[in-house]
Amino acid sequence: MQNDMLTFTKNGQHYPEVKPAEARKHDFNEIYANFDPVQAAVQASRCSQCGIPFCQIHCPLQNNIPDWLKLTAEGRLEEAYAVSSATNTFPEICGRICPQDRLCEGNCVIEKGFQSVTIGSVEKYITETAFANGWVKPITVARETGISIGIIGAGPGGLAAADALRRRGHEVHVYDRYDRIGGLMIYGIPNFKLEKEVVARRHQLLTEGGIHFHLNYDVKDINELRERHSAVLIATGVYQSREIQLPDYSLAGIIPALSYLTASNRIGLGDRVRDYENGVLNAEGKDVIVIGGGDTAMDCVRTAVRQNASSVICLYRRDQANMPGSAREVKNAMEEGVKFLWLSAPKAFVGNGYVNQILVQQMRLTTHDNSGRQSVVPVEGETFALKCDMAIKALGFDAEDLPTLLNAPSLGLSKYGTVAIDQQSFATNVEGIFAAGDIVRGASLVVWAIKDGRDAANAMHKYVTALQHQAMVA
Ligand code: FAD
Ligand code: SF4
Ligand code: SF4
Repeated sequence: MQNDMLTFTKNGQHYPEVKPAEARKHDFNEIYANFDPVQAAVQASRCSQCGIPFCQIHCPLQNNIPDWLKLTAEGRLEEAYAVSSATNTFPEICGRICPQDRLCEGNCVIEKGFQSVTIGSVEKYITETAFANGWVKPITVARETGISIGIIGAGPGGLAAADALRRRGHEVHVYDRYDRIGGLMIYGIPNFKLEKEVVARRHQLLTEGGIHFHLNYDVKDINELRERHSAVLIATGVYQSREIQLPDYSLAGIIPALSYLTASNRIGLGDRVRDYENGVLNAEGKDVIVIGGGDTAMDCVRTAVRQNASSVICLYRRDQANMPGSAREVKNAMEEGVKFLWLSAPKAFVGNGYVNQILVQQMRLTTHDNSGRQSVVPVEGETFALKCDMAIKALGFDAEDLPTLLNAPSLGLSKYGTVAIDQQSFATNVEGIFAAGDIVRGASLVVWAIKDGRDAANAMHKYVTALQHQAMVA
């Protein structure tokens, strides 16, 4: 193994092998291989063990990256796993799907002129090695507290909170309206980025650790849960697709991104989906246009390629430099044959009952907006038509109307419609009800949901133990 660190001058940056585009676009399997032990040790040894590690500062979980890189370089993988899993509930998932180019790796300050350490791939390698060697164990509880906690939502936010609360000895019940745990990790993110077995493996461990899952359970009245549990966490994510109010936007063949991706993921999991079988949510043989430039849009275009669409176009109103999505995913999509039309916004849908064209407005860049990206305005008179028999809307998500959906009319909301919380205590304005993840932050990332779930669990633990203490004193 490597005992020297700072080897970036002699060892170049390498990512794990990626399947060539021609080979990968015919199936839904993950496209990146895992490092072998030598590659992992060499890549980890490139780290310069910075005194102030910017990689760690820019990881939402503040993962102790320099330490686990050093342990990996030395071949001390069980210890590396102990360090890495101390701050991250699902390191194998973050290693796969964090946008590392914007987080840890994008802020790696290895000497100028050398490329960053491949942190995410090493994190995945450490955790996969830990699974292979049986080092990842179900939670064991030294003392049951007798306190019961309810969590609505089995996405990464709810699961990270459930894990942390169970470790403290609480009885944890997780309710989800879906039939599987994982939230968007199962029904949003495609298999070629995150294979579903990776999430299912965690489901088994969490169940073995004593967490109670209530699946196919759509919570419609939070007060029922409040009566059953000492505290309740709302971790329901954001699911209201943003609409395009354009002429003829209700034609058949214009579909929301999440319906499309959920159907594809369900098919991969072996479920039957009627609207896939009847062609509504299946891109095979179609001219597909995906509207949007974020990660969801990239997932849609790459799914359509794998479903054997005749052609796949991504329509985005800004240019490539101003795209919100991960540069890595755009590159992957381009390699797989997706055509990008920049500075192009939909102006109208055209069809007779069923969409057959999109009228496109040419745009041009102007000044920067609040998000730091350049805004766009239409170029007068510049429009063109594109053939299209499936249009997928990938324009982002907003929160649903939770006070109505959960029968909690007094639940406080932010100006964005997300649940308002106290930033320190994660408490909502309703006694005993907390919130975390996308439903607080707005559509975000798995790693932020994990961070929020863990922090909310700490705050809830303080709350319920104080209640228990008061009851004992009284
Ligand atoms: P969710 O994952 O949305 O989970 C919420 C859960 O709550 C769901 O299981 C839902 O069924 C359940 N629920 C909701 N309401 C109720 C109710 N009333 N009763 C019972 N259950 C309920 N992030 C990344 O980091 N990397 C990526 O590559 C990435 N790709 C993405 C691709 C797509 C297509 C999408 C849509 C998102 C992607 N994200 C990605 C974002 C990431 O998935 C989310 O930020 C993250 O899953 C949010 O976690 P959460 O726990 O807050 O909510
Ligand atoms: Fe990087 Fe994400 Fe892992 Fe943090 S959790 S080290 S940001 S891959
Ligand atoms: Fe190592 Fe880069 Fe982090 Fe510095 S910033 S500790 S070189 S991974």
